[in-house]
Amino acid sequence: MRAIRRFTVRTLLPAELRDLDELAHNLRWSWHAPSREIFAGIDPDLWAEVHGDPVALLGALGPERLGVLAADGAFVERVRVAVTDLHHYLQDDLWYQRRASSGVGTADALPSAIAYFSPEFGITSVLPQYSGGLGILAGDHLKSASDLGVPIVGVGLLYGAGYFKQSLTRDGWQVETYPLLDPDGLPLTLLRDDDGTPARVSLDLPGGRVLHAHVWAAAVGRVPLLLLDTDVPGNDEAARKVTDRLYGGGGEHRLQQELLLGVGGVRALRLWSRVTGAPVPEVYHMNEGHAGFLGVERIRELVTQGLTFDEALEAVRAATVFTTHTPVPAGIDRFGRDLIGQYFGGDMAVDGLPVDRILAMGAEDYDGGDPTVFNMAVMGLRLGGRANGVSLLHGQVSRGMFEGLWPGFDAREVPITSVTNGVHSPTWVDPAFAALAAERLGLDELTADDASSGWLRTGREGAGDGPAVSDGELWAIRREMRGRLVDEARRRVHRSWRERGASPAETGWIDDILSPDVLTIGFARRVPTYKRLTLMLRDPDRLKALLLHPERPVQLVVAGKSHPADDQGKRLIQQLVRFTDDPEVRHRIVFLPNYDIAMAQALYPGCDVWLNNPLRPLEASGTSGMKSALNGGLNLSILDGWWDEWFDGENGWAIPTADGVEDPDRRDDLEAAALYDLVEQEVAPRFYGRDADGAPGRWLEMVRHTLATLGPKVQATRMVGEYVTRLYAPAAVAGRALAGDGLEPARELAHWKRSVRDGWDRVRVDHVDSSGVGEVPQVGDLLTVRAYVSLGELQPGDVEVQVVHGHVTEEDVIDAYTTRPLALAETFEAGRYAFAGEVALEASGPFGYTVRIVPRHAGLPSPAELGLVANA
Ligand SMILES: *Cc1c(COP(=O)(O)O)cnc(C)c1O
Repeated sequence: MRAIRRFTVRTLLPAELRDLDELAHNLRWSWHAPSREIFAGIDPDLWAEVHGDPVALLGALGPERLGVLAADGAFVERVRVAVTDLHHYLQDDLWYQRRASSGVGTADALPSAIAYFSPEFGITSVLPQYSGGLGILAGDHLKSASDLGVPIVGVGLLYGAGYFKQSLTRDGWQVETYPLLDPDGLPLTLLRDDDGTPARVSLDLPGGRVLHAHVWAAAVGRVPLLLLDTDVPGNDEAARKVTDRLYGGGGEHRLQQELLLGVGGVRALRLWSRVTGAPVPEVYHMNEGHAGFLGVERIRELVTQGLTFDEALEAVRAATVFTTHTPVPAGIDRFGRDLIGQYFGGDMAVDGLPVDRILAMGAEDYDGGDPTVFNMAVMGLRLGGRANGVSLLHGQVSRGMFEGLWPGFDAREVPITSVTNGVHSPTWVDPAFAALAAERLGLDELTADDASSGWLRTGREGAGDGPAVSDGELWAIRREMRGRLVDEARRRVHRSWRERGASPAETGWIDDILSPDVLTIGFARRVPTYKRLTLMLRDPDRLKALLLHPERPVQLVVAGKSHPADDQGKRLIQQLVRFTDDPEVRHRIVFLPNYDIAMAQALYPGCDVWLNNPLRPLEASGTSGMKSALNGGLNLSILDGWWDEWFDGENGWAIPTADGVEDPDRRDDLEAAALYDLVEQEVAPRFYGRDADGAPGRWLEMVRHTLATLGPKVQATRMVGEYVTRLYAPAAVAGRALAGDGLEPARELAHWKRSVRDGWDRVRVDHVDSSGVGEVPQVGDLLTVRAYVSLGELQPGDVEVQVVHGHVTEEDVIDAYTTRPLALAETFEAGRYAFAGEVALEASGPFGYTVRIVPRHAGLPSPAELGLVANA
């Protein structure tokens, strides 16, 4: 029988235990072991049964049990201490408050609040609102912002089913199920109006329909995360399903999700500020293009206050940060222009927000672009005055990829910078390992910069300069972590074979798979083609030989989900699973179904080596290898993403890439062979090379070096700090500068840009003279440059005339250049001027220079901003 209505009855906690509710509803427990221990201690079996979910645990305790706990003075006291600690965490002045205090009230003040929009957030397995790296990164961003006291508000969607659960058929085919989540059973609080009714945001849809959403708030430490949910009364059947699942359908369903995220998200923020009194964000961060419509909504807000579209765009752009996450075209959202037209044109059009202006923002109007599509990343770049990729290499790749948006400028001048990703160590470091580091080195993520070097103290034990952690201890805890993974893998393989239909009589062998003493290599990630799940199978005999080596065996733990619509990915999984099913090797290689945060937390600490073999340069950053490194794992990876930047020869191994070999099969052959060689000749011998104390000293040297030098870099606190200082703070300053004085500066900037665009076709370099360098130019000579230019209607102050100089190639291309502004030297009639200056010849070798004119205005974040340049 189907229920016509459902709700979850909440447990009423006795007064003595009310604080438990606060502990359970602030997700800080997910990275704070002492809080988790309180819940686990109530009933360890029940805690395991509810998969470590405090809200579920409290819900499952009967009144009798609660009565006993309430009468247990020692327990009540522990809870009180824990909640007091939480209150300190929530209220103390942290890194951000200490930095902010110097600038309060000034034009340079740090932003009072920052909104962070993302289609997914991976915070804990209890709130499965993520599919992979993008979501995990967003979760780590919020947690680290909380640890630093950065006033961020997260904005996302609450998916009724979250991401799917993966299981396997008997013959290794991926099967997806979508367990429904009940928001009342999650650590969320419904946002309510003053009168107690659920607050809601609404959006108009074509055909006179309206989409309503409730707003749920999760507390991520001190960071609120607002999640919009359309499964609410008042919505028609189709509208209810908008947030049914993460990346559910394609096309229109996806568009509606993104409209809800962007437009609905801004409205939810306004509600949040009204209801809670929280400050209105000064900076908006789009985590990938999916959230791009937030800019359209903010333009709409300003247009209704009387600004033109262009004026509003300036105000919005200045305060918006856009992060691109992928160089893989399939990872970028594109919609048909017609579809966008249906949502912003015709009856749906808003005064002052012409549909052609919206379409123009997502238009691929550059060489190689598709004129029929609306590209969300392109819109993100046009709406974000500041943009970044997620590793140095990815920044460079992105500048090349989006070069067409800044015509006339070389890729290196494209205004897309990079902030290399990081990970939230309290979430990802094994608690026992973290406790050891805290006790011996005083190490946590906030002290990582100073304390990490403690790992390098390897002096003699017992001596005054003795090691903080001896080789023997380090090796013992690494073995313990590996052993726990082995146990966990056996449990999971048992469960998987039950689901695959095996009877207990057939699965006795699983008790003996893997070993806590064998070199363990991990590989877990989503399964898009470019990540090459099956590269390791390229030469099955060689892989077998590595697994079954008589003295130096290797064991492999593999996991990963394929996108439900990606049959090719599912075939790769099947191929791998079939290999792991082979009785000859099944004790040395396992595939664990349903990769998620919970599995990841067991996997990283237990692996000695973390393998990553993407097709360079398609892995924008990658973060799993960072999590491994923080647990003392060594990376074995293609030089892509973050590893390209931080591999130093001693913190792991670089698999040589055959980047440039055109034939993909040959490229796979070459890279797989290099991988096998490395494992056989470098990795395994080091791991098994034991010293007199039984520990592999040379291996542990690499582990110590990794912990000491990579440890501080891979922290998400380092990453969030960079976002604050390099992007949020400048965006806040720029946004404030345009918003002051009734938005007059935004009007002025829009007006100026229009006049520069209109007048640019008359801007040119007429003639360049130079002097000061003789027949044989020498280092130290001063080159005097004088450029005669025409500016038409523009004034000298509207432009910068630059000499661009540097090394030239045989084709006369200046490949590594510097620019130097020339000064106005003379004014002629009819808009003609002379600009002059000097350049010192600093290096020997082929040298060249040219002169160019670019627009100049204090409100431009980069000279390339307008895509206008006049070259000599
Ligand atoms: C870290 C993590 C990822 C992302 O890993 P990549 O290295 O970026 O592929 C994906 N899923 C889970 C569960 C993770 O913990």
